[in-house]
Amino acid sequence: MNSGAGPRGSFVGSGPSPAWRCRWCRGAEGSVVLDLGAQPPADRFPAATDPVEDALFPLRMVLCDRCGLAQLEEDETRADEPRGVEPEALVAQARAAVADLTRAGFVERGARVEEHGSPHGGSWWAPVRDAVPGVVVAGGGPADLVVDSLGLMHEPDLRSAWLRRVREMSAEGVLALHLHPLSTIMRDGTWNVLRHGHYSYLSVTMTVEMARSSELTPVGAWRYPLYGGTWVLAFARSASVRAASVPPEVSSVIERALEDESALGVRDPAAVALLGRGVTASTAALRAWLDGCGDSVVVGYGAASRAVSLFAATGITVRDVRAVVDSSEAKRGLSMPGSGRPRVPIVGPEAFAELRPDHVLLFVPDLLDEVRRAYPQIEAAGARWVLAEPEPFVVPPLSGT
Ligand SMILES: [Zn+2]
Repeated sequence: MNSGAGPRGSFVGSGPSPAWRCRWCRGAEGSVVLDLGAQPPADRFPAATDPVEDALFPLRMVLCDRCGLAQLEEDETRADEPRGVEPEALVAQARAAVADLTRAGFVERGARVEEHGSPHGGSWWAPVRDAVPGVVVAGGGPADLVVDSLGLMHEPDLRSAWLRRVREMSAEGVLALHLHPLSTIMRDGTWNVLRHGHYSYLSVTMTVEMARSSELTPVGAWRYPLYGGTWVLAFARSASVRAASVPPEVSSVIERALEDESALGVRDPAAVALLGRGVTASTAALRAWLDGCGDSVVVGYGAASRAVSLFAATGITVRDVRAVVDSSEAKRGLSMPGSGRPRVPIVGPEAFAELRPDHVLLFVPDLLDEVRRAYPQIEAAGARWVLAEPEPFVVPPLSGT
């Protein structure tokens, strides 16, 4: 079932399909920088009993030669991602970002707020409402604050989606974008962010240029530890009062980020293509670890979309991982895409008691602290949490367990 899937080495120099057009500048020339072969859609979890073979689709990242945008080459899948349970880490990040925006004076009493959501959850509306009295939903009218938390990446037509957000800003309005930049992805080698439904992989560099093309100026920039390093960038109209009084420390943070990204090569196909090395390393290490588990019971945790390509590229079957536990009610009775036959089922946390795992393979490393707190019985029974990526890491027990 997984034959044909998986990494195929380096792809620098090969171009995208003839029909390809850049999602930002509409250019027709680009370089394939990451090719994961044929993969099941990461957002379509088949029923555990589904007899039909999972459809596979090419999964490739292309870097535009003209504007440098890293993007999904094509996507013939149709997203029907069941909404996951919002991780505490994402809620905490939203609160921290709202606190920073409030301190900067970007959201004031009675502000009109427009939010663009993401299938990953992480709405900023509740934190904004809790932090600032009298805020209202702009509802299509001019907004004092336009928020987009990990939303733009889910827009197939990046240019139109961007222009829509810019149009929503009032004259003195602020656009706050939360992104998981390509530079973080390159530094951490997290190749499995590439998936159907994630159309663009913005860098700080790319985002600042998009803003400049719309006559917007960066007025705020903050970094957060989520996913190895996410950014919130705030932009105002270049003609606005806000843009005329940008604190020097904001300008220097942006300057430094642009320099770092330039040194890293976020627009250099050869540099971005190094992500491919991580595919081989992660899948080989995970395969070796699973094979070394022998008769011990391995259960997965976190049926997130990011787990799907790691699962499929490693060729994980029910012989390796008995089931994947996920707290989302919407995923009960479903199975991991591309997991062969019988499918690897997705079950609720109550199944831990029956499965009695020796190892719980955690597919979303950011969840470690909260799952340890939520399921103390795992370590109390002598079982261990194992981070699945970039390479399996058995988490030492807390002292006393
Ligand atoms: Zn382009």
